Amino acid sequence: MSMHMTTHAPPTLADFRVEVRTFFDQVLPGALNGLEGTTSRGKAWRASLFDHGLAALDYPIDYAGRDLDTSHQQVWREESRGRIPREDAMFGIGVGMAMPTIRDFASDELKQRFLAPGLRGDDLWCQMYSEPGSGSDLASLTTKAILDGDEWIVSGQKVWTSGAQQSQYAILLARTDWDAPKHRGITMFILPMEQPGVDVRGLVQMTGVSEFNEVFIDEARIPKDWVIGEVNGGWATAVALLGHERQQTGAKSMSGTSESRSKAGRSPIPVAQLIELAERAERSGDPIVRQQLARLHSGEQVVRWIGARGLHPSIGKLWRTKQGRAAAELAVALAFPGGAAWGSDMDVERNFDDDYFHYHFLNCRGMSLGGGTDEIQRNTLGERALGLPREPGVDKNTPFNELPKN
Ligand SMILES: Cc1cc2nc3c(=O)[nH]c(=O)nc-3n(C[C@H](O)[C@H](O)[C@H](O)COP(=O)(O)OP(=O)(O)OC[C@H]3O[C@@H](n4cnc5c(N)ncnc54)[C@H](O)[C@@H]3O)c2cc1C
Repeated sequence: MSMHMTTHAPPTLADFRVEVRTFFDQVLPGALNGLEGTTSRGKAWRASLFDHGLAALDYPIDYAGRDLDTSHQQVWREESRGRIPREDAMFGIGVGMAMPTIRDFASDELKQRFLAPGLRGDDLWCQMYSEPGSGSDLASLTTKAILDGDEWIVSGQKVWTSGAQQSQYAILLARTDWDAPKHRGITMFILPMEQPGVDVRGLVQMTGVSEFNEVFIDEARIPKDWVIGEVNGGWATAVALLGHERQQTGAKSMSGTSESRSKAGRSPIPVAQLIELAERAERSGDPIVRQQLARLHSGEQVVRWIGARGLHPSIGKLWRTKQGRAAAELAVALAFPGGAAWGSDMDVERNFDDDYFHYHFLNCRGMSLGGGTDEIQRNTLGERALGLPREPGVDKNTPFNELPKN
């Protein structure tokens, strides 16, 4: 059964609500039936969503989308709340960041080639921005791409690349003009990961899990036209992609999976779970615990309202890191001594064990860094939302190859 619409006429909101409900009530359970493991469940969820026309509501019909407006998206948000499987987190970079950037900036040929398999979850994507010497100051990156006939040849090193070990493609930033000022000599590429010049090495995090990687690039090849946006115009597309990243890591993470158990540490532990934990620990009458719960509950409500008003994504991201840390600290305290236990066979996919809270406690720290640190979010808010004077940028107009390097 496929409910995918082939006409341009949008369904009524009532019909669309039924369509979404039917998908979650009747279609999805069958698609996930008997599947275990993050990858197989995640891929089955995404494929089923796509095949039933619900994976790309705001994408043009020509590119596998439905071209539906914000009122349909609101219906989707209402009906999908708490029902999106947490395995969807594996598509955060591909579906959440790479696809909208390709949709908005890539050539028609690249859209035809990459949007449908990316939205369906057939291709996994990673984001190759950060380098050992370039994190917050991303525009100082030194991975280089040189055009050689029909191909770009890329060499350099990336780091903290989440999910690179599973990805087929990367959104890569590389320097293509060394004589231009640092923001004006960068190009955004699509890098095929499965090739000899790309060496992915896992980094073990303090949780014991390897989610991110170092990637060594030695004369890797990219077809000449696999550029997103303009050659040397990559800063604009890089910033656009970061906007999607902040959007989804901030307020958006509240409205999606958070009411079921989130992928541990990615979004704050929901207050409903903390209340359950307080009751189990017989601490729900403790005034200090109640005060902490009330503060976290207010945080949940406020961010939802802020999200509905569509404020700056950096606010959502800052909220998430602060709320995430406070919630994890309370959870570990309430689950004590179990919350401090750390099994050597720790399985991050398990849900209701004490390990889950401890994993949250350790993993939420990294959320203050990934996608731009808390300090950088505050700088962004100061400069772009509040209109405060910009940070002095002595290096903004100097050719990159004349700047002192780290
Ligand atoms: C879990 C996780 C996943 C990640 N995934 C990816 C990924 O998939 N792809 C990718 O490309 N990168 C990824 N990153 C990297 C992340 O984007 C960087 O860690 C981040 O941008 C900070 O860069 P840095 O680590 O080099 O720190 P630095 O930039 O060296 O910062 C060090 C400290 O200085 C502060 N600081 C720096 N500049 C300023 C300033 N101008 N004003 C005030 N304070 C400042 C910072 O806030 C920070 O506290 C990930 C990181 C984490 C933790």
